[in-house]
Amino acid sequence: MATNDYESGLKMLEELTTDAQQIQDQLLGEILSKNAETEYLQGFLHGQTDKQLFKKNVPIVTYEHLKPYIDRIANGEASSDILLVEPLIGFSLSSGTSGGLPKLIPTTAESAHITATFNKLYRSLMIKHFGDINQAGKRMELMFAKPDVETPSGLKASAVSTRAFKGSSFKAILPKLYSSPFETIFCPDTKQSMYCQILFGLIQRDEVVMIGSIFASTVVRSIKFLESNWKELCSNIKTGQISEWITDSGCRNAASLMLKPNLELADLIEDVCSCKSWEGIIRKLWPKTKYIGTVCTGAMLQYTAELEFYCGGLPLVSGFYACSEGAVGINLEPLCKPSDVSYTFLPNTVYYEFLSIKEDCVTDSQNQVQLNAMSHHEDTGPVDLVNVKLGQCYEVLVTSSMGLYRYRVGDIIKVTGFHNNTPQFQFVGRQNVALGVDMERTSEADILKAVAEAKALLDPLGLILTEYTSYGDTSSTPGHYVIFWEIKPKEGNNNNKNGKELDPKVMEQCCSKMEDSLHFTYRMYRKENMIAALEIRVVKQGTFESLMDYFVTKGASLSQYKTPICIKSKEALNILDSRVIAKFFSPRTPIQDN
Ligand code: AMP
Repeated sequence: MATNDYESGLKMLEELTTDAQQIQDQLLGEILSKNAETEYLQGFLHGQTDKQLFKKNVPIVTYEHLKPYIDRIANGEASSDILLVEPLIGFSLSSGTSGGLPKLIPTTAESAHITATFNKLYRSLMIKHFGDINQAGKRMELMFAKPDVETPSGLKASAVSTRAFKGSSFKAILPKLYSSPFETIFCPDTKQSMYCQILFGLIQRDEVVMIGSIFASTVVRSIKFLESNWKELCSNIKTGQISEWITDSGCRNAASLMLKPNLELADLIEDVCSCKSWEGIIRKLWPKTKYIGTVCTGAMLQYTAELEFYCGGLPLVSGFYACSEGAVGINLEPLCKPSDVSYTFLPNTVYYEFLSIKEDCVTDSQNQVQLNAMSHHEDTGPVDLVNVKLGQCYEVLVTSSMGLYRYRVGDIIKVTGFHNNTPQFQFVGRQNVALGVDMERTSEADILKAVAEAKALLDPLGLILTEYTSYGDTSSTPGHYVIFWEIKPKEGNNNNKNGKELDPKVMEQCCSKMEDSLHFTYRMYRKENMIAALEIRVVKQGTFESLMDYFVTKGASLSQYKTPICIKSKEALNILDSRVIAKFFSPRTPIQDN
């Protein structure tokens, strides 16, 4: 897209959001008439395509319901007889949350076309706010391809991001617009890949105008990686020789082409990195950066404080909401604070329905949505895109040309406003990610909020909570909540790396603060001793990196990796438990409401 074409993208956004109802109805009509004869739809609609019949007869399903159909396609049966008429080009590996096993989502040429249209709209919006960064310089985007999985049908299953990296148009623009050479993105060893992508970002520091990755956790992780490895990186830049442990031939080839001895640059980077505080380090190292482009909402909100510390006032742009199942929202105000971000659903991507959630969403002092319990309204059916109500929370359902019909994506959103006739929403959390050790259920949003309040107590001690996750420990009765915390000093020196200097009093206060912040049912159960005291287990620095490595070996895509807010897997728990350096318990029952 030429820079001056961006106005047509903005115009298209206005048209789409104005004609949302009509576009949605048309889209549903097309999906149904194309696929009415498939085994799946035939069973409910008997060849008919009427919207009301669709709503009456087609059941609302989860992935588990569709899995037998999808598995048959993956095993070689013709997809057109089973779920969808359009030929498949492969499957997308959806993480949903990275804690679960990836799901296989059918992918067609049409879904790829929808993604391309979205990219055009997104780019138009970015040009409006930041000018055309393609003309200004390069993006240092941390990108990690994940190997494809070949299904027995011969169709490949790939992470959506990996498919994008492999596209011919991406390959063509990569050298001009991105700092990472192709080989580093496809390097199968993520540590070597990360090292090289940072190295190439450093040597092109004068050209870098945007820094990012899909999720904020990856950006924070890369800065922490730089914090541990800058001396070695500088030495590589000084000598023009890449470290011996980088054994990947693609990375070495890329280095042989681009890495030249540069004493002056190495000294400059050394100067910047050796300063005591790493506050604003991104701006210092990459002075032309205009913004950090990365998803900062939902589970990623926990990384924003650290990212803000590193980026020294650069805008954090949480530009879009997207999932492998095809739902897409765009942030029309990319300059707003991460906690205020709302996404506008695009009506031309999938047919949306919204299942309302019984409990009202409560917005807390930090403008974050908190849900106490998430059960659906039984009396009302799902509503269409344009009929959602302001302030109401919903679970998102999609019907798409990819063979998903009234499919529960598992995301909960809250309607915050409208752009023309199209709703805007705040991302609340995943539906089924919850802690529970008795009858109580604690949502991802609850945990997020409780941690946000407790971690503020670390501030006066000069400590930062860098990562956390949680676990419902029912190995003893009553069960209790365990929250794993990775903590580091603010100023970069690692004196209390081993946790000995952690003030037990403050840590106990953190435990109590979390309990005080949790929902009514939790506090009531605690008072009645149906739940034991909440425990914080402080883990060694680097633990969450090992956790990520574990999930990556289990099939999670590094580009799409999100630290699970709750841990369910035994092995993951072992990784955390084997690195615990201190344990603290809440010394009192939580404060009860009057
Ligand atoms: P995947 O299926 O691996 O593509 O992951 C998609 C999931 O990531 C979504 O269903 C959401 O749960 C989460 N996600 C995607 N975009 C955002 C966003 N902007 N804010 C919060 N969570 C998001």
